[in-house]
Parts: sequence; C-alpha cells; structure tokens
Amino acid sequence: MDHFSYRNNELFCEDVPVTRIADNVGTPAYVYSAATFLHHYDAVTKAFAALDPVICYSIKSCANLHICRLLRDRGAGFDVVSGGELVRALEAGADPAKIVFAGVGKTDEEIHGAIDAEIGWFNVESEAELENLIAIAESRRAAVRAALRVNPDVDPKTHRYTSTGKKETKFGVDLERARRAFETYGRQNSVQLCGIHLHIGSPVNTVAPYVQAIEKGLALINELRSDGFKIDMLDIGGGFGAHYKAAEAPAAVKYAEAIVPLLKGKDLQIIMEPGRSIAANAGILVTKTLYLKKSGERDFLIVDAGMNDLLRPSLYEAYHFAWPVKPPPEFVTNERGENVSLPGLLPMDVVGPVCESGDFLAKDRRLPPMKRDDLLAVFSSGAYGMVMTSHYNSRPNPPEVLVEGDSFRIIRRRETYEDLLAAER
Ligand SMILES: *Cc1c(COP(=O)(O)O)cnc(C)c1O
Repeated sequence: MDHFSYRNNELFCEDVPVTRIADNVGTPAYVYSAATFLHHYDAVTKAFAALDPVICYSIKSCANLHICRLLRDRGAGFDVVSGGELVRALEAGADPAKIVFAGVGKTDEEIHGAIDAEIGWFNVESEAELENLIAIAESRRAAVRAALRVNPDVDPKTHRYTSTGKKETKFGVDLERARRAFETYGRQNSVQLCGIHLHIGSPVNTVAPYVQAIEKGLALINELRSDGFKIDMLDIGGGFGAHYKAAEAPAAVKYAEAIVPLLKGKDLQIIMEPGRSIAANAGILVTKTLYLKKSGERDFLIVDAGMNDLLRPSLYEAYHFAWPVKPPPEFVTNERGENVSLPGLLPMDVVGPVCESGDFLAKDRRLPPMKRDDLLAVFSSGAYGMVMTSHYNSRPNPPEVLVEGDSFRIIRRRETYEDLLAAER
C-alpha cells in the first residue's frame, strides 16, 4: 500500500503531481510520501500492540533526518549500525533509551559515543566485541545493557547478500556458542547481558522463518534462565517484506498473527527493527529520459539516474517496477509488476549513464514508447535507495523531496560539483 497513483493521466505522490516536483528540483530526484511512511509504521505498531514492543526504525534503510523526525514524532526508536547513524538518531531527537546499536565491527570510538549517549542496548555480535565492550564499560564505570546476536541458522529464502541468519554468515554467534558466551561473560556487572538479538535477513517474504528463529531463540532463553541468567529482552530484528513486483509481501498483521502468540506473556521486552517494510514503498526515484538507443532485439532507454543513484538493481539484481510519470493515456495504469501487459508495449532495458555494464535500473522490461525528456518513475525505491548512493563517476547525489498532502519540501538539496570537491580542497 502506498500513496503513489495515477490520476488525470499522470503520477501523483499524495496530492502532488510528480511532474511539478521534477520541474521544481530537476532529475534525478527521490520523492517520498510522508503518509506512506506513517501508514507502514502504524501498521506495525498496531499489529504488534499486544506485545507493547519498542519499534526501532532501521535508519540504514532511509536515513534522512526529516524522515527520522517524522517517525520519532510517531513514537519510533532507532536501530543504528554505525556512529554516523547514532549521530543522525540523536540529531533527529531520538529517545536514547529507544536506540539499539548493532553491527559486527563497532570501533572503540563508536562504543564510547554510544555509552556517552546512554543508548538502550548494544547488540553484540561476537565474544571479542563483548570483551572489548566490557573493558570499555569497566574503564568508564558505565552501566551498559547488551543483547547477544544469535544466529539461529534458519534460511530466510532471500538473496544471499541479504541473508544474515544462516550459519555461514558473519553475523552473530550460533546457539551453542551463545550459551558458552553467557557462561563466560554473563556474570560480570559492567555489561548487563540481558537479551538475545535475532535478525535473519531481508526481505523475508514468508512468516515461517521468523517462527523458526523465534522458537529457537525462546528455547535458548529458557535454558539461559534456568542457568540463572536474567533475560528480559528479545530483539526480533527487521526484514519484513515490501511490495516490489505486485503485492508479494505479507501485511504486518500476517507476521503478527504468527509471532505475537509465541511471545505473549514471556516476560520479555520485545524490540523490533523494521526498515524496508516502512520505507521501501514510501519512495520513488524520478529520472528523465536522455536518449533512446536502438539495439537489435530491444532498445536501451538511457536515463539520467544510474547505479550511483540506485544501486539495488546492480548489487542484488533487485526488481524495481518502472513506469512513465505521464504516459500516453492508453498506458495509464495503477497496476504494477511483471504482469502489466498492455498492447503496444516495447521491449526495453532502462540503463544509466555510468561506465559499467552493470549500470541498469530495469532490465528486460516492456514499457510504453518513450522519448527524450520523458520522466520515468522507479517505484519502491524508498529503502536502500538514497542511503546507498555513491559519487562514482563524480556524479553529485540527487535531492530528496518529502510530500505531505498537497505540499512538498526539499529535505536534502541536490549536491553540487563544489560539494564533490569540498573534502579535497
Ligand atoms: C538492516 C537491518 C535491519 C532492517 O532490515 P529491513 O529489511 O530493512 O527491515 C534490522 N536489523 C538489523 C540488525 C539490520 O542489519
């Protein structure tokens, strides 16, 4: 569900025509719908209300300060994975008690920063990191709460690059090691090892892997409790799906129907870390056609956004539905995905200007006829879009625009050539 739809033969974001935004800020540009962010955030809060969880929005999915503020105002905490994300969360006015800090390679500087900020929990990913955290906490006589990230060895059936809960990944420790880690480190006082963290991957478009992971996590918690450890939190991570093709992602209530009964009455503070399921469908990338290049079987649509603007297609072969912002009337449709079939569509690859064969946004598609200057919307780009931009080919990063009802504002300006050079002056 999102607030991007065709009305009067053109694409609107909420009540603003996308063409108006493009005229104002140029292309390429990220355009976000505030109502969509809030809709998805509210859906999770509501579905899981029975567990009264702390919902820590995963900043890495879409990190703009104004988005963070929007969600903080709605009650969100934050899942951060770096010192930079911590700074963002604090700048956005986050309640530090609702911040969790994960990541396999936290530096001493980042750990000190998080202790200074008095964040809620560290999610610790290895014994070595835990030893370091204990040493730092001891040296500062700080009270620190931590959960151990456990790798439950379940297969989330997603891309191998975004699968994090199988044995062979670098994340967390396995169940056996987790028990030993509690034996070794669970009885000192500087770091209160009080919980378990599970994050199995993303997007996880089925409910079963969560059930498996949580059942394994709960069994471990039972064992730990009977060994005398005080376990009071369980962080079930993020990874809920989003709609990229059609309506492939289960709704928040579907996940909740399976997960809530498992966790109800277990005397655990539940933490959730949704990112993609809140942000993905809340944003599009708007790009402009530069050239059409005939090339035998199919044509190349060369647009002004490339892999440096939206990396997911190149990195994961991710599918993003792409459609003209103002198509000829016979091609106006609110359907999305691979099944859109209208007479007159043409085979096309949508590619960017970057000097790499892997620089494509949409491969092997059927699109309405396009001409120079036509705008194209690349849908479901709100999560892992802007945050993965680079300056490759010395391309300045696009602006971000937030739409609320019938108004819009620039929440990140377009970078300039001077921005590209500034750190080298
Ligand atoms: C990336 C990440 C998330 C968010 O995943 P989504 O798929 O965006 O919901 C949550 N927790 C951790 C530890 C992560 O690394």
